[in-house]
Amino acid sequence: MRVWPALRGVLILSPAFALVAAGVVFLVRQFDDTPVAPPDEAGGRLVVVVVFDQFRGDYLTRWSKLFGPDGFEKLKADGVWYSDAHIPYAVTTTGPGHASIATGLTPSVHGVVDNAWFDRTSAKPVYCATGVRSYDRVPSLGGPDPAAGGGQSPDRLLVGGVGEALVAENRGRVFSLALKDRSAVILGGKSPTGAYWFDSGTGQFATSGFYRDRLPPWAEAFNAGKPAARLAGAEWNRLLDPAVYEATAGPDAGAGEGTANLFPHRAPADAKTYDALVASPAGNDLLWEFAQAAIDAEGLGQRGGTDLLLLGFSANDLVGHAYGPDSHEVLDVTLRSDRLVADLVAKLAAKLGADRLSVIVTADHGICPVPERARAAHPEAQRFDPAAVYAPLNAVLDARFGAGDAPATWVERIDYPWLTLNARQIASRGLDPAAVERVAAEWAANRPEVALAAFPRSLLAGPTLAEPFARAAQLSFHPDRCGDVFLLTVPYTYPSGKLASGTTHGSPHAYDTHVPVVAFGVNVPKLGERGGRVSSLLVAPIVAHCLGLDPLPGRPERLPPEWKPEAVSNGTPAR
Ligand SMILES: [Zn+2]
Repeated sequence: MRVWPALRGVLILSPAFALVAAGVVFLVRQFDDTPVAPPDEAGGRLVVVVVFDQFRGDYLTRWSKLFGPDGFEKLKADGVWYSDAHIPYAVTTTGPGHASIATGLTPSVHGVVDNAWFDRTSAKPVYCATGVRSYDRVPSLGGPDPAAGGGQSPDRLLVGGVGEALVAENRGRVFSLALKDRSAVILGGKSPTGAYWFDSGTGQFATSGFYRDRLPPWAEAFNAGKPAARLAGAEWNRLLDPAVYEATAGPDAGAGEGTANLFPHRAPADAKTYDALVASPAGNDLLWEFAQAAIDAEGLGQRGGTDLLLLGFSANDLVGHAYGPDSHEVLDVTLRSDRLVADLVAKLAAKLGADRLSVIVTADHGICPVPERARAAHPEAQRFDPAAVYAPLNAVLDARFGAGDAPATWVERIDYPWLTLNARQIASRGLDPAAVERVAAEWAANRPEVALAAFPRSLLAGPTLAEPFARAAQLSFHPDRCGDVFLLTVPYTYPSGKLASGTTHGSPHAYDTHVPVVAFGVNVPKLGERGGRVSSLLVAPIVAHCLGLDPLPGRPERLPPEWKPEAVSNGTPAR
């Protein structure tokens, strides 16, 4: 049980200065200057970034014998596979994951600190993909998408994505398509050519007024064919013989999977049909159908220049939350993801030519095993309700600093993993915020469920924290968008008191941070597996390199030395 930092009298800096201070870390290193193929104006090229939502890096190893020859195995062998890539920041959720893939930066800089957060400036909870201004849903629902508050936009993403330079230089187009709205919005960066997501309330693909006023004809035609209605309600069976799954993952319906956990799966008749669709592999199939319609109608990779297509396959996440990473269901959606990648590579190579295609496969985060299943090997595995710290911590702070001014309390909010302390009360008592943060962190760190508590607000201009988890918390911290004290639960803990089954992600533990990083095709050296530990932020410079973009400044990761020109010449040359 540790508390970081153990410093006293730390100067509290203004948020603006703090960002500059944090930025210093990132401005001293640049992208490599490795030569890349120029865009082919006659035929064009296409770079596809495939993001599986919740896909642990070890899946590519543990299930490799069950993959086909033309999917993940082909990419791993004929491209570059970083088999020990980890997310460097602490809050490993979907919004930050997609923002870091798109920008190559950490939440402390791009500002997407979680899927939703308590915005300190407006004193309101906000969703990462909801605009600061209001944007109507497209096609029209007569106002903003009610599921996303004020309507979707990348307003809250503080920096542009890697594709921004492509658009700015008029050298290509950027399309971002996903099942989840936040995945499409955040992956697309600040100014994509188009961003579209699946609306499970209507079964339509949609966008918002931030991007355009009406759907393009190809998307309208796609919706008119009611493909979601065609796919919904179909029975979900295992791709391979059930005996293969039992031999690999034990019996179907392991501990902690909850009810309705046996194959075959069929959406109950009274359920919201399209929610069940996106929580099954058919959801990914639907997105791939939509993507092919976009590729054909927009002529992606076929109209000169280099186009960037970002695809967010979200079904894996919903399956993984419900059944956990050791289930037949996650094995099945992973095997189907392998076949989907094989289909994507084959179809696009046939359409464009293999010498016009680059594919990068990665994920926004991993996943913790279901606690009930992890317990055999990890007795500390448990379900823990963070709200349980609220009353006892208030009592501790009352005892130390005097009772709160009724009805105020010392702990203002718990937005796990952040605790927000009552700044007005701290100020009115003339207390040093760092002193109160420290007492709260010391108490929290002594709870059996908590491995570490950090208070990065007091350390923004201080040293880079040496403790890896505290450093990760620092990289997830944005002063306007985070609380004061970061709680890290012990490994294999599900931080929710509400759910009795299933599992989640969001921690800096290795099962959440380990993600696939695989690149293949034009401008990618054929290096096979690279086993050393790397940062997942490497994805952005790889994508930029595949796009033929000049080195982008201000990113913490650079292309590794193995991407030197002679290594590239061993790969597929660009035309
Ligand atoms: Zn996710």
